Formats: sequence, C-alpha cells, structure tokens
Amino acid sequence: IVTYNNICKSYGDLQVLKNINLDISPGEKVALIGPSGSGKTTIARLLMTLEEPTSGTIEVEGELLWHQKVKDKLVKANEKHLHQVRGNIGMVFQHFNLFPHMTILRNVMEAPRTVLGLSKEESKDRAIKMLEKVGLASKMDVYPAQLSGGQKQRVAIARALVMRPKVMLFDEPTSALDPELVGEVLEVIKEIAAEGEMAMLLITHEMDFARDVADRVLFFDQGRIIEQGPPKKIFNNPESERLQTFLSRFN
Ligand code: ATP
Repeated sequence: IVTYNNICKSYGDLQVLKNINLDISPGEKVALIGPSGSGKTTIARLLMTLEEPTSGTIEVEGELLWHQKVKDKLVKANEKHLHQVRGNIGMVFQHFNLFPHMTILRNVMEAPRTVLGLSKEESKDRAIKMLEKVGLASKMDVYPAQLSGGQKQRVAIARALVMRPKVMLFDEPTSALDPELVGEVLEVIKEIAAEGEMAMLLITHEMDFARDVADRVLFFDQGRIIEQGPPKKIFNNPESERLQTFLSRFN
C-alpha cells in the first residue's frame, strides 16, 4: 500500500537517506527502530509530504505521491494531487497539536466536516465512535487543556482514525509523554493494530511495543535499512553487529 522506491534524501552535503526501498502491504504493521539521527523521522516526513525526496519515488495505493503522470511524463505533483494521495494517510506525531479553542468532540469532528464534507450529524457520529474507541467519550465536551498528555495523544489518534485512513503513521507518539502516561497510549495503538485492517508505520523507541505490535521490524542506521525481519528474529537473533549494539542499550 506504501512503496518507497530508491529513495535518497540529502540536506546540503548531508545524506540522510540512502537508497531506501520499502514496501508496506495492506494491513501490515511495520516498526522502524534505530539510533537518533538515523533518518527515521525523515522517512515519515516524506510520506507526510513535509519533505521532498532528493531522488526516488513514493507510491501510496498505486498513486505516486511526489510526482504525477502527465501525458506519460513524470512531473512534480501539484498541490491537489498531493492532497488527494495524502488523504489515505493518518498521522500522529510526538506533539498532539489539538485545536485549543475547540472541545474534544469538535477537534475530532472538524476534518470529516471540512475535508470530507460530511454532514454535522454524520461527523459527530463518527467522532463519538472514535472517542469511544480510545476510551474518551466521557471527555468529549471538555477542552484540550483539561486533559492529561496521554489523553490528548489518544484524542490525536481518534482525530486521525476518524478519517478512515488506509495507513496510519505514528512518529514517536509517546516520546513527549511522562513515563506513567506512555502505557495508555501504547495500549490504544495496540488495540487499533489488533483490528487488523489498517497498515501502520510505527517509529518508536519502545522496543517491547515494537515486538508486540509489529509484523516486521526495520532497523535503521545512518540512512540505511541495515536489517529487517519479524520481531522475534530482530530482537532475539540480531545478525548485524550494529543492531546487536543498539539493542544492548535497552537491556
Ligand atoms: P530521532 O530518533 O532523534 O528523531 P531520526 O532517526 O528520526 O532521529 P531524522 O530526524 O530523520 O532522524 O534525521 C536524520 C538526520 O537528518 C539527522 O542528522 C538530522 O540532523 C538531519 N536533519 C533532519 N532534518 C533536517 C533539516 N531540515 N535540515 C538539515 N538537516 C536535517
């Protein structure tokens, strides 16, 4: 459902991603692990269209993300095309970015109304279902400032899910949280993962979580995928020395 073809990304002289090839199947849960600065967030930012690849292409649901075909020629995608393809992707980042002046319910209803053009009733129905899913239906009339960090992040998850994306992208969703709030957010993500139908790309420093949720784990280092495989293989039987060294820090 998502394919990175030979993706390279540089910032000036710094090559951050080097020939990345990555194929995510529908429903597949892929975890990205690796040291700080290895390029994980850049992988996410490319998919979110916050950064443009230096070379290579990205496909989402068979549509090129950064390019479009015009008369059989590959040209740079226009805003409309980007917007359309990006609509298949739900995103949750480290920081929740809820609208502070809107209630929780309105925060979740907003995009179905304005982006999908659904009626108020339908948007509300969908939003309430999602808030139930993340265990926050009882908070729908309060404002973000009245919630804990973990609750805010669960709202951010509901807000992404309400758009029914085909792929969910989580970029270190718990790394800005106090340690005691991490568990509830990971639990919600695990429950969504268990439902199965959505593909997920999870960037995380939580190794136990990656082990539990992922079908496949990718170890990134210095802009390359060094090793990948099922969690059992990656965590119990790492082949490369770099992965062994990386994992030893978590024991
Ligand atoms: P972390 O786990 O700390 O978030 P990461 O693996 O996600 O790290 P990236 O954020 O993708 O790593 O960064 C990869 C490299 O690219 C780093 O060396 C970073 O300093 C550099 N980098 C990222 N964004 C920019 C930018 N806009 N301009 C220049 N360099 C950048």
